[in-house]
Amino acid sequence: MKMADRLGLVKPSATIAVKQEADRLSAQGVDIIDFGPGEPDFNTPANVKQAAHRAIDDNLSHYLPTLGLPALRKAIAARYLRRYGAEYSPDEVIVTCGGKNALFLAAMALVGPGDEVIIPSPYWVSFPEQVLLAGGRPVILETAQEDGFIARAQAAERLLTPATRAIILCSPSNPTGAVIPQDELSRFADLALKRDVCLILDECYEAFLYDGLAHATLAREAGRLRDRLILAGTLSKSYAMTGYRVGYGVAARPLIAAMAVVQSHDCTHPTAAAQAAGVEALDGPQDALAAMLAEYSARRDLIVSGLSTIPGVVCARPAGAFYAFPSVTGLCRTLGVADSMSLAQILLKEARIATVPGEAFGAPGYLRFSYALSAERISEGIRRFRALAVR
Ligand code: PLP
Repeated sequence: MKMADRLGLVKPSATIAVKQEADRLSAQGVDIIDFGPGEPDFNTPANVKQAAHRAIDDNLSHYLPTLGLPALRKAIAARYLRRYGAEYSPDEVIVTCGGKNALFLAAMALVGPGDEVIIPSPYWVSFPEQVLLAGGRPVILETAQEDGFIARAQAAERLLTPATRAIILCSPSNPTGAVIPQDELSRFADLALKRDVCLILDECYEAFLYDGLAHATLAREAGRLRDRLILAGTLSKSYAMTGYRVGYGVAARPLIAAMAVVQSHDCTHPTAAAQAAGVEALDGPQDALAAMLAEYSARRDLIVSGLSTIPGVVCARPAGAFYAFPSVTGLCRTLGVADSMSLAQILLKEARIATVPGEAFGAPGYLRFSYALSAERISEGIRRFRALAVR
């Protein structure tokens, strides 16, 4: 059967081969230490689960406005004001099926054939593919490990052409954990205003910042950047509710209206009870968050120090998110392995640890390790990795 031409433009994620093999081995009873998942290993907080139950019992089971449950939009707008001084009305918020869907709606609303979108690399796997599906052309902005993988406005400026529509930033970053400082974000804001392009900021890992670092966000520039800014966030990661599929986009009215047109012809809106749970997540007690963050912070120290003891592996200390992204080119050389994709396959087969090769993120030579798994499993995984590396 012939599929639509657009499917020829996008590729299945490079993570899939390793993931399928890891699943196959696990199904056979092989104990795989899985550093792959991009989701919290914690359970959704009890108060959030109860709110979902209550919503079902109260028959919150009819269609909602396309933009989402008013109480949730109000909670999201209030939070932006409280935290970042950004003034958005609830009508400038759209609740989406995860942050991923907010980003997809943004691409569909802004990007068309011939449009270019600048994406810093290493990038989250879906950014280029969403731009391609929208008919646009991703333009990759390289960042450097020595510069902490921080996207720089000056470097982005060199890639701007009359066809540039938008720049997609992600901070804290998946896969590198890099955090773009507030002054660099201001430079991006200057650039967007000077050259009339839009900025899309994916802040899905907003809650995952370590060593007391505060979240830097373009929301602080919302006053002057308003017409050119889309913020995308999610409850998936912060509240361990990936399966609920509740994310959001925040932007000026015309942008939100355009995104709503797309959503109205697509999923209509995320499940009503999940949105009600989202209100409780944002407005209810926040103590689960602090406990989870303390645990991630300890795991980060464990994984970074563990990886740093492996010859040929260079691991920076991520400032945010829950991924370590070490360079493994030295190790590939020592082991006589062609690239990080092959190394990931060897690690899976011989050390029984699953990682995601940098190729998936446009960054060959690296491996991504999620540390959303227990300290005990992390230590065992590092032990296995080290045994393979120094044998
Ligand atoms: N953005 C980034 C950088 C991510 O890593 C993810 C999930 O892995 C998402 C967005 C979307 O997550 P969700 O759709 O669950 O909100």
